[in-house]
Amino acid sequence: MNSIISKVSYLNGLVDGLKIDKSTNEGKMLIEIVNVLKSMAEEIDDMSRAQKDMEDYVDAMDEDLADLQDNLYDDDYEICKCKDEGENFTEIQCPNCNDTVYVDKDILEQREELTCPNCHSSIPIKDELKKSK
Ligand SMILES: [Zn+2]
Repeated sequence: MNSIISKVSYLNGLVDGLKIDKSTNEGKMLIEIVNVLKSMAEEIDDMSRAQKDMEDYVDAMDEDLADLQDNLYDDDYEICKCKDEGENFTEIQCPNCNDTVYVDKDILEQREELTCPNCHSSIPIKDELKKSK
């Protein structure tokens, strides 16, 4: 990436080494050309750094977007599943991992607690959930 800068630096050293007479028109012009090349090389270096930053930023946004899409599809799946399985199911939120668990109301009647399918900890079934039937 720094190859232009190093080439210009080499040229700059060469101009110094050749002891170009700065009082002549040719000497003035040559030194001015090298100065312009130096500015251009620095400018190009800045631009490629900025572009690299931009690429990293776009990559990060791309990953975030992919995550977001994955989550959206998960939600769609749960909504569909919920509708398909009908009215006899109720949602319980796991107090440990906050995952939503769909439970058959008949099972709720029979049991005091459930095992979370996500984190495998036990979820106590509250009495008010049983009475909701
Ligand atoms: Zn859980």
